Amino acid sequence: MQQVHLLVRRAAVRLSLVVPLSIASFSAFTPAINWPKTDVVGSIECSALNMTIVLCDNGGTHSLPKLTPAIMSQTQTAVTGRKKRQIPEGTWTQCPGCKARLVSKALERNLRVCPECDYHLYVSANQRIEQVLDTGTFEEWDGDLLAADPLKFTDSRAYVDRLAAERKKTGLSDAAITGTGMIRARRVAIGITDSQFIMGSMGSVVGERLTRLVERATEQNLPLIIISGSGGGARMHEGIFSLMQMAKVSAALARHDQQGGLFISVLTNPTMGGVAASFASLGDVVFAEPKALIGFAGPRTIKATIRIELPEGFQTSEFLLEHGFIDRIMPRQKLKAEIARTIDYCGK
Ligand SMILES: [Zn+2]
Repeated sequence: MQQVHLLVRRAAVRLSLVVPLSIASFSAFTPAINWPKTDVVGSIECSALNMTIVLCDNGGTHSLPKLTPAIMSQTQTAVTGRKKRQIPEGTWTQCPGCKARLVSKALERNLRVCPECDYHLYVSANQRIEQVLDTGTFEEWDGDLLAADPLKFTDSRAYVDRLAAERKKTGLSDAAITGTGMIRARRVAIGITDSQFIMGSMGSVVGERLTRLVERATEQNLPLIIISGSGGGARMHEGIFSLMQMAKVSAALARHDQQGGLFISVLTNPTMGGVAASFASLGDVVFAEPKALIGFAGPRTIKATIRIELPEGFQTSEFLLEHGFIDRIMPRQKLKAEIARTIDYCGK
């Protein structure tokens, strides 16, 4: 009896962790339990007595109260000696790819890549610096450049208020951070755009920081790395000042190229709009994270314009690799090593 009782207690605790408590019937759980076959061979529910009869392989039977949700929660309390603790917020992260609940700390250690389905979750610009550069080597350039509001633009809120809110939310002063640092002891010029800051859109500060980054890389003969994450393109709040940034950064990249400079472009999820249509696709070598959304306009806009069915997954890294738009799909864990290897391969 003691052995069976222990088994049921153990199963009850396990069940209360893995199945919703709204399922009341113990017999409904039985097939899902991995009962040791040498001890228990089955169970019969007796509604009249409100009991569950457990059958053991030695021919004996034992009667137990039917495992209702209330009993199960009491059992858990008895076994653990305390009530279920509240799980602190942020302990779990749900994978957008497979919906698995992942322990946030373990996910961080895995560079925010889902161990179940390899989905590459969002990484902020600051996290990306930690992941790609040697620890403590990053030195920011042009961090003091801040957006102006030449049009006094207001939509649902004033542009200046939106900027202030975005700065508070992301800890960034604008959607791109640029500077220099070391990748496996190789000095590089590096820029990263962050899709969380007004969708990573290219306002005048993003364009100017990137242009100065490219120009410094050219002057100092540094390998240039730009990691793009942008859900939008030009920042409409700045009108024409935003639109001219695509041409400005592209011109600086052309000069970098003429001087024999190396530019490695890394595309992450998402890279869209004016970012994709300018610097992000101009790399000497273009890497992309797996399953990243990369394109110019969204599929609905394209479909409404050209009125034909679009191939499935046509804006993913895998599709673009097949069609020669990118050079390699680069899992996040390999990115740092492969950038270093590419720099060496290109003799920079
Ligand atoms: Zn997943």
